Amino acid sequence: MEVAALASGSSGNCFYVENNGKGILIDAGISSKQIVDRMHLLKKNPEKVRGIFITHEHSDHIRGADVFARHFRVPIFVTKKTAKAAKICSNVDLIKYIKNNETMEVGGMKVEAFSKSHKAADPVSYNVWNGKKVSIITDLGYGCENVISHISDSDFLFMESNHDEIRLERGPYPYFIKEWIKSDTGHLSNLQAALCVLEHGSPKLKHIVLSHLSKTNNTEKLAMETFDHLLKQRKDLNLKVSLSMREKPTSLFKL
Ligand SMILES: [Zn+2]
Ligand SMILES: [Zn+2]
Repeated sequence: MEVAALASGSSGNCFYVENNGKGILIDAGISSKQIVDRMHLLKKNPEKVRGIFITHEHSDHIRGADVFARHFRVPIFVTKKTAKAAKICSNVDLIKYIKNNETMEVGGMKVEAFSKSHKAADPVSYNVWNGKKVSIITDLGYGCENVISHISDSDFLFMESNHDEIRLERGPYPYFIKEWIKSDTGHLSNLQAALCVLEHGSPKLKHIVLSHLSKTNNTEKLAMETFDHLLKQRKDLNLKVSLSMREKPTSLFKL
């Protein structure tokens, strides 16, 4: 399998997973043109995308889904509640309803949706596997049991590391937004994310890509330092940590 974050952050999230030349997108939160351009940068053909899997209805996860799906005639996999909340696509034939905690097979890959805690209609994260297992886990208020069980069984993790707690507290956001971000249905801080991996990552886990970093309340340096510092305590982990970005795709990672 090959994986990449085409974009991640509050300005848009889109992850690409490929198996034997067939791909899927997890979220499509940048424009369809940006998805196409960034796939071309990775020398990937958007015509090979077999499905778009939506995590929840926030615009940084769905912005390009409708246009990309209609242009390339690609189905959008989404829960009923999320589809309704998002008004996901004008062509109902392209919408494939999934259930939270359902596993599907698309492009020779197994794709599992599992629930997480976030302020949205029916938010899910995804595992994708074909031998090796990739988990894409962003937009969550805390590491619930579901999230923990998948972290402890993954080979490769895209993991939310949204904010630095002190920077959020002292930053410019209004009080009610700060309180939401910190809540159980908000976003995961650097510290919460690193603790999840420290406590539940298995030696099987080889690579984490820190994702959905806040432009205002985080820096790449703070996120990396938090992980480096905490994960030193796990001598049994041999883990690479890298970052996804808002403005350009990551490299293609092979596993
Ligand atoms: Zn988001
Ligand atoms: Zn969200």
